[in-house]
Amino acid sequence: MEDEILALEAASKAIEPNAGERAKLRSAVFEYSEEFLHDIHDKKAYESQDAFDKLLKKNISEEGSALSVILDIIRSDVDTPGLNPASGGHLGYIPGGGIYSSSLADFLADISNRYAGVFYAGPGAVRIENILLEWMADMVGYPKNSGGNLASGGSIANLIAIHTAREAKQIRSQDILKSVIYLSAQVHHSINKSILITGLGDCPVRQIDTDDRFRISTSHLQKLISQDLADGLKPWLVIASAGTTDTGSVDPIEEIAGIAKAHDMWFHLDAAYGAFFALCVNPPESLSGMHLCDSIIMDPHKGLFLPYGLGAVLIKDKQLLYDAHHLTANYLQDALKPRLEESSPADLSPELTKHFRGLRLWLPLLLHGVKPFRAALQEKLLLARYFHREISKIDGFKVGPEPDLSVVTYRYIPKEGDPNEFNKQLLKEVLADGKVFISSTMLDGKFTLRVAILAFRTHLNTLKYALRILSEKAMELETRFSNV
Ligand SMILES: *Cc1c(COP(=O)(O)O)cnc(C)c1O
Repeated sequence: MEDEILALEAASKAIEPNAGERAKLRSAVFEYSEEFLHDIHDKKAYESQDAFDKLLKKNISEEGSALSVILDIIRSDVDTPGLNPASGGHLGYIPGGGIYSSSLADFLADISNRYAGVFYAGPGAVRIENILLEWMADMVGYPKNSGGNLASGGSIANLIAIHTAREAKQIRSQDILKSVIYLSAQVHHSINKSILITGLGDCPVRQIDTDDRFRISTSHLQKLISQDLADGLKPWLVIASAGTTDTGSVDPIEEIAGIAKAHDMWFHLDAAYGAFFALCVNPPESLSGMHLCDSIIMDPHKGLFLPYGLGAVLIKDKQLLYDAHHLTANYLQDALKPRLEESSPADLSPELTKHFRGLRLWLPLLLHGVKPFRAALQEKLLLARYFHREISKIDGFKVGPEPDLSVVTYRYIPKEGDPNEFNKQLLKEVLADGKVFISSTMLDGKFTLRVAILAFRTHLNTLKYALRILSEKAMELETRFSNV
């Protein structure tokens, strides 16, 4: 038996490279990462290529391959086709970027593989998570007894918040048909998913009207609530956005909080996109009421420019988060008794084992300080105002409202023909050029183009280029449209 065991040990050696082998692997990977970054400012933001020749040809097989071959596949079939989120030209959806120091923190977290789920196992790793949550709570203006969790992104953060709200308000199965949820059509679809996943899909959901800037109309909200109360229903949850994905609009947080409080409802604020603008040198006033909600989410992989994989949820009363998630098991009996003041992520979220994702935020914040983040966020706000001003000066473009944060909507109105069709074509042309990536949405039934400015590599020259390409392509299309 011993011989057999030793033979297996020898056969598995490849997964434990020695120092010399590690150095070779490392230098190949770092060389590749430098190759990727050295011309990142010239790389396309979008490459419309759907060929995955090498990727599809390469089978997962018994024998390993050279790292150079694998990096070659990554270069051609992974890091080339589609959207390039690391590019400053990424102006679609809600960008972020992926700062370098965060990638190094991920490397360190993976090397040590500290257990970040339970304080007993990884006290330092858990402390880091708690320090970050306290820092974010402080930014929002939450009290000391608030709590939270570092999740993989905003969607899961929303899920944790909605589940906590349900438990806190004790919505049992028999209450669901009478328990009303209020939200606007501008809410992120991960909210609707969360409602479904938490078993609240049969709650009546009221769609609150929005004003001409796509913000929740509080008078309509009030009206809906009064109607539901008169009908014997129970309003229990209102959800607003601090930065909608479509237009970057910030709902009137303070007024909504007042209404929620008056009716003893839970107020959840989806600030996945907008929260970190509170760090700006001159933070937008619209964000000043964030401390009034019962729960809030924010995405460091958007607003703090981290690589994908980090969203945060905060619950104003930590006890409620704990009550909604704490369960234990025999095999965890050695872990210390949970203490609220040094809580373990496993007691506050659906996850047990989790990636040590705190390090990817903590290390950059310590290394750079908060200052450059404040400046970058302020820069993005100004860039959005700049783009809004400049695009409205170009003949034919009709621009949406002055941006609350860093999303600008606009569309071209052609002299002849269907504007929707024209703007679809215009989008196609801009993507075919590929230097900048923009996306579209439907607003009041109109096909609308948008830029979302949040990639940390997006600067003034990026926006100047975007303005130029939009104007050039619109003119070309206008000629083509009028020639048919
Ligand atoms: C991005 C976003 C989400 C979802 O977050 P993910 O990190 O993509 O899961 C939720 N709400 C808003 C407002 C967002 O912008």
